Parts: sequence; structure tokens; C-alpha cells
Amino acid sequence: MHRNADRPAPRHTSNLQVHRLIGGFCALFGLGCLIALGALFNIAATLDQQAQQTSSFQANQALQQRLLASRQFLSSYAVWDAAYEHLNSQADWQWAYEEKNVGESLYSASGYEGVFVVTDTGTSYALFKGKPSESPATAFIGSDLAPIIAQARKAAPAREQVTHFVRFNDWPAVLSAAAVRPDTDVLDGEVRNAPVMLFVDQLTADKLARLGEGAGLKGMRLEEDSSAKTRQPYIELGDTGFHLAWNSPQPGHQLLWAVLPPLLGVLLLLGLVMLYLFRHALRSSHAIDQSLLRLQQSNQALEASEQRFRAVAEAASDWIWETDRHHRLTYLSQRFAKVTGYRVDEWLGQPLNQLLACDTTPLLPWLDAQVDSDPQQLANLRCAYRDHNGEHRYCRISARSILFDGKLAGFRGTASDITDEVDAHARIQHLSMHDALTGLANRNKLSRHLEQLLLRGSDAPPLALLLLDLDSFKPINDSLGHAAGDAVLQEVATRLRDSTRDGDLVARLGGDEFVLVLQGLDNRSEIDRFCARLIDLLQQPIVFEEHQLHIGASLGIAQSRAQGFDAGELIRCADIALYQAKADGKHTWRYFSPEMSQQIQYRRQLENDLRRAVQQQEFVLHYQPRYRLDDLHIVSVEALLRWQHPQEGLLGPDTFIPLAEQSDLIVALGRWVLLEACRTAQQWPEHLLVSVNLSPAQFLRSDVVADVREVLLETGFPAQRLELEITENVMLNDIEGALGTMLALKELGVRLNMDDFGTGYSSLGYLRTYPFDSIKIDKRFIAGLTNQSGNDRAVVQAIINLGKAMGLTVTAEGVETEQQLRALGKERCHEVQGFYLSRPVDREGFEALLADSGQRHDAS
Ligand code: C2E
Ligand code: CA
Ligand code: CA
Repeated sequence: MHRNADRPAPRHTSNLQVHRLIGGFCALFGLGCLIALGALFNIAATLDQQAQQTSSFQANQALQQRLLASRQFLSSYAVWDAAYEHLNSQADWQWAYEEKNVGESLYSASGYEGVFVVTDTGTSYALFKGKPSESPATAFIGSDLAPIIAQARKAAPAREQVTHFVRFNDWPAVLSAAAVRPDTDVLDGEVRNAPVMLFVDQLTADKLARLGEGAGLKGMRLEEDSSAKTRQPYIELGDTGFHLAWNSPQPGHQLLWAVLPPLLGVLLLLGLVMLYLFRHALRSSHAIDQSLLRLQQSNQALEASEQRFRAVAEAASDWIWETDRHHRLTYLSQRFAKVTGYRVDEWLGQPLNQLLACDTTPLLPWLDAQVDSDPQQLANLRCAYRDHNGEHRYCRISARSILFDGKLAGFRGTASDITDEVDAHARIQHLSMHDALTGLANRNKLSRHLEQLLLRGSDAPPLALLLLDLDSFKPINDSLGHAAGDAVLQEVATRLRDSTRDGDLVARLGGDEFVLVLQGLDNRSEIDRFCARLIDLLQQPIVFEEHQLHIGASLGIAQSRAQGFDAGELIRCADIALYQAKADGKHTWRYFSPEMSQQIQYRRQLENDLRRAVQQQEFVLHYQPRYRLDDLHIVSVEALLRWQHPQEGLLGPDTFIPLAEQSDLIVALGRWVLLEACRTAQQWPEHLLVSVNLSPAQFLRSDVVADVREVLLETGFPAQRLELEITENVMLNDIEGALGTMLALKELGVRLNMDDFGTGYSSLGYLRTYPFDSIKIDKRFIAGLTNQSGNDRAVVQAIINLGKAMGLTVTAEGVETEQQLRALGKERCHEVQGFYLSRPVDREGFEALLADSGQRHDAS
């Protein structure tokens, strides 16, 4: 199949050969004709020549015969004794003419036009056409007679005569001359002067015609020498100026005339036939050349397209296949080996469906269906196969039937490797349905799952939807970084998966929110057991690097039996229940109940309002003074946050601080309080301290040290006048981190006050470790100070003594009555704060208090 495409195409081969052949044939034919004609002409010429020779011979014979006859006839007159007697010297006319011995009959009977007797002295006897003539012989005869006479005399003894051709009366004639002598033997001397008899036989047309007839020759005639001599034979007639001519037969010519026309006709016909044949041959050879050329061109085109195909087939990323009509592979491009790892020859002859399989459409029927399909539309099918290494791969095959003479010969097509595409698609599918971090189902998958489960409505098995939120997750994420947060989420995911059954779904909604969909679980006690186990499981510490992380979880539960079969509604209800669980103290679970809805709706609204309020600065600070117990002078003031709500009016911190703590809002809010408190207190007397409450969430979500430093720098407020109130919850969350932060705060020069002292688990322990300047005894103890039991009094006493022992300033808050104040005075508490002395008041109110106290101070 592989031919050199560069080779130049031989053009018009057969035409050229036919041209040559025709040329050769024409030459041969011409040569043959020439040879034949030459031979013919040669034969004709030879025949003519032979006929000429024969006629010449005959003519000569006839002439010689006539001359001989003439001589013999003359001899009968000249060798005659009587003539010798009567014609010697003087001619005897009487004897000769009158007695008709040599008379008129010589002309009339024998045809001699002239009869002369010549002697040395002249003409003694002369007859012209039978009549006596006075004129001498020389008057008629144009030649010199002397040599003739001499010859005649010389021949006489031998009884011979001479003949000559002469002009007579200007026309050629045969002159016979003989010496007149006796019929006896004579000697030369006896006839030396003898008269000579001359007979002139003029060669007239009649005589010549008779002569010709006698010899069998036609057209005997005389022609002047000067006239152009034809190719006809002739005989010279002496110096008469004439020659004898006749029509020599021309058998050659006749032959030519007979043969040539039909021969030429045949040749012409032959030529015409040949011409026709040659033209035909040329035309068909031209046609052959044309079709040869077309064949070559199409061959070249085929070769080029084959090369092109090969180049494309080998360069393409797809592989190309071909089968016979029984679906057995007959061709595989080299690319096949590269993609699949198999050798091409391993698969040739094998049915295509042994290699490829499609799970949705059987391959072979699909191929057969391509026979009737629209050839414009290439059909595709996704097939799977195992490559040489046994790995699962996918390819997209296209197929088209191969028809040969309208009959199915097989199939061919391409196969594009789409393994990467399929894998990517599967990955995307997975990603779109799963949470990348934990591998759990995501919100998408959850809604699909729920939709499917709830499709049958009340016929579907009951399901419980548990919404789970991690407690104390954000602090971990914030303080230890995202790696820790991720580890926690992954561990939680594992624990959740481990505690659910096969048909259940665990999904992560984002952040630290998870959903569990439990099927067939309807009984509350069962659900309770499950939730208790789950919460217990999640409270087990999680080890991250060297840290032991403590988290917990709250759960909100919705049930399809109770809350209906709408997925969105179920999630919403579970969310409300979760909210309630969190509000109720975390690490617990709540079932949705319709009453929750309203409460939570309110909280939700508030949360949104809070977000807006931060932006619109709807907050104000109220101030509650702290008094020295000895002289009840204001030594310090606590800033307490209030929200001037547009609809609800002035709201206390307990209504919104926990909300703010659940998001980053607390950070912005805390900064604002610090700034506002310092800025305001800057205006007040220098001895006055200002206390600002810090929420544990602030410690976890922002860099409190940096915030405080910035506010001090910005306001120029002296650090030693600022006191930060911290509850022991700060220490609970992150013991080491909190210590570091507090030491750093101390380095700024601010004071640290432990708020709500006595309510926590290990307040005393913290006191030894942390750098506090003061403690504030929680108002619960103060409230119980005047109780009969005396229990709280003992606690307050102990706290005051401990504080003093550790060099701390001790404050009692929530002092509402004079008794309480007096009791604290007895215990020698340092400072007091409470409604009995002053409620928290706004700025103007506090400044009025300050002025009033100053007056009192001055007055005392
Ligand atoms: P706290 O730090 O213990 O503040 C004292 C609370 O006791 C204040 O309530 C105050 O009005 C109230 N109080 C004062 N004297 C008496 C009294 O004689 N009897 C009774 N029953 N209560 C008294 P408030 O202003 O509603 O604050 C509640 C809590 O909100 C505060 O408790 C504090 O923990 C928090 N808070 C207030 N302002 C801020 C703030 O700016 N930032 C942060 N993080 N928390 C704040
Ligand atoms: Ca406080
Ligand atoms: Ca307090």
C-alpha cells in the first residue's frame, strides 16, 4: 500500500506509445507501398523495355528486309545483259522506256518514285514517278552521289548492291544502287566505269504503314531529328535528318494502368481504414491516459488522505477503532496502546463488547442501531473498561456504520478517554453533595435526602431531625487557630458517624452546626437516650497536639410525625428547639414546641436589631458609683451598658449581651464601651477610677490587650484609673491563655477586678494564680447577708478576710439596705456599691452625683 508519493506521475503513457506505434506502422505501410509500387514500376519498365527491344528488333528486321528486297529487286535489273547492253554509256530510251524494260511500271507497280542511271558523265536515264525527267538525279537526291556510286561499282563483281538513306525530293527515301553489268562474271576493271542504276523508294506514309503492318507494329512513321525524340524506339535514317519511329507496345504501362488504379484504390481504402483505426486508437488511448491520470490522481489523493488519516490518528488524543460487521475489532490506532496499555494485536479479532461495556445501554445493539441513524449526527456512548493495569477507565465512543455497496461491512469510530472528566465529575458531584472538611453530607445532600424521605408524606416511616450546635467551639477556633477548629470538627464528624446507623444521615451545615436525620425513630424516650449518649460522647475531650479540648453540644429536635413532612419546616423547627436548648444552659436537648416559636421569634428579631444598633450607635452607658465604706465617698464608677431600643425602649445588658456574645457583635460592642467609658471619665476628677466589664467572649474573639492599649492611647486616659471587671468564666474557658492575657493587661498598667466573686467553682484558686487587684463579692451573698442562717455572712466574712490577706481591695455589690451596709461596715469591707447608695444613672445623673458628693465632701 505504501508507495512513494514523490514519484512524478508518468503522463500520457499509452497515448505516446500509440503515437509511436502508429508512426512505425505508417512508416512500414509506406515502405511496403513504395516497395510494391517500385517493384510494379520496375516490372512495368522491364516489360516496356523488353517490348521496345522486341519492336526495335522487328522494325529493324522489317527495314532490313525492305532494303534487301529493294537490293534484290534492283539486282534483277542491273545484273542483266540486256540492260548492260542498252544502258551502257548512252541510255537506250526506246528499250528502256518504250519497251517498258525499265519503264513506268517501276513506279506504278513497284512503287519506286525515282529510277536513275548515272554514268561518270552524268545522269543518262531518269524517271520521276514513272515519267521521264530531264533533270539529273542530283536534282532530286539531296546527298553526294559519288561515294554511293563508288560503293556500288565496288560491290558489283560480287553481284552485290548498296542501299543508303537519302533525301529524295526533300523526303527520306531508300536509295538502292547497283552497277549495271552483264550477268556474267566480271572483274573489277570491267565495272570501274560501268553505269550505276539508282532506284529510289520514297518512304511515304502508306509504305511505312504497310511496313509496320508487316512487322506487326503500329504507328510506323518518320519524324524529323530536330523534333523532340520521344522515349519511343527509333531507327536512324542516315543523314536524312529523319528517323523511323513507331508505337512500341507498352505492356508495362498497360500493366500499370490495369493494376495501379485498383491497387491505389485498395491502398487508399486501407489508408482510410487505418486512419480511422488510428484515430480510434488515439482517442481510446487518450481516454485510457485520462482515466490512468485520474486513477493516479485519485491514488495520490487516496495516499495523501491515508497519510493524513494516519497522522491524525496517531496525533489525536482519541483512539480510533474499526470492527467488521460481527463487531470484531479489525483496526485500532496506535493511540489505543498508549491510552489503555494493551498491545493492539491483543485485541484485534476480539469483539468490541469484550473490551468496552456500557451500564445503561448494551453496546452491540446500540452499534447495530447506528446503521439506520442519521449519518450527520454522530452518536456517542459512555463506556467503561479496565486498562492493562486493571484500573477502571471511561471512554466516550462515537460510532458510524461502514457500508460497502450498500451493505453493512462493519463499524468505525473514535474513543475519547474521559476518565479524568468522569472522575472530576464524580468529585464535583461528591463535593456538591458533601462537606469538604468532614466528608459528611452537606446542605444540598440533606435537602435531597429529606425530600426523598418525605416524598410519601404520612406513609413514610417517621423520622427525627436533630440539629446540633457545638458549645464552646468558637473559642477554640479563635484561640488555637483554624487547624484546631478543623480537627475538632473532623473528630465530631467521626463521633457522629460512629453513633448513627446505616440509614441515618449526618450532615454538616457549616460552622459548628450539624444535622442528624434518624429514620424510624419516633419514641421520645428512645430519642432522649440517643441524645444523652451523643452529648456525653461529645463532651469527651478532644486531643489536639498537646491540648485537651473540651467542647459540648446542644441539640434541637423536630419530628416528622409532629412537625409535618416539609423538609424546610422541619429544619426551622429543629433550629428553634436548638436555640431554646442553648438558652436553657447548653449541653442539653430540646424538642420543638409551638410556644418556643414565639419566644425565639422575638430573640431573632432582637438579634437583627442588635446588629443594626451596633451600626447606628443606639447604645449608651449608665454609671453606678462605688463608695469607700469608711466615709462613703465615690472612689470609683462602673460603666454599665444600655441599649436605647427604638421600639422596646431602654434595654438592660442581660437582654442582649448573651446574644451579642454568640456572634462577633460583642467585640465591636466591647470596644465601644471601653472607648466611651474612658473618654467620658477623662472629664472627671483624677482620683476617680472607672470600671468596665469584659465578657469572656471578648477575651476569646478579640485581642483584648490590643483593644485596651488602643483606647488608652486614643483617649489619653491614664491606665491606672481604668479597672477591668472579669468573671471567672474567662478563666474557665482557657486557663493558660487567660493568664497570659491578664499579665499583659497588667503590664499596660490597668487594674483587674474579679467580678461576681464566689459564684464559680474555684474562685480561690484563681486568686492565687491571676494578677487581680481587687475582688467584688457577688450580690447573692450580700442579699443573704442579713439572713437568719448566717451562712452567707460567714462566706462574706471569709472572702473579706482572704482578700485583705492577699492585699486586694474588696468590694461588695448589690447593697440594697442600710442593714447590709452596716453589716459590711462591721466586716470592714473596703468598698460598697448598690441601689441603696445609688442606682446606675446616666452621665448627667452621675455628674450631678459627683457634684453633690463633692459638696457633701466639702461640707463635712
Ligand atoms: P454586673 O457586672 O454584676 O453588674 C451589676 C449589676 O447589678 C447591674 O445590672 C446593676 O444594675 C445591678 N445592680 C446594682 N446594684 C444593685 C442592687 O442593689 N440590687 C440589684 N438587684 N442589682 C443591682 P445591669 O446593669 O443590668 O448589668 C447586668 C450585667 O450585665 C452586669 O453584671 C454585667 O455582667 C453585664 N454588663 C453590664 N454592662 C456591661 C458591659 O458594658 N459589658 C459587659 N461585658 N457586660 C456588661
Ligand atoms: Ca460588674
Ligand atoms: Ca457583678
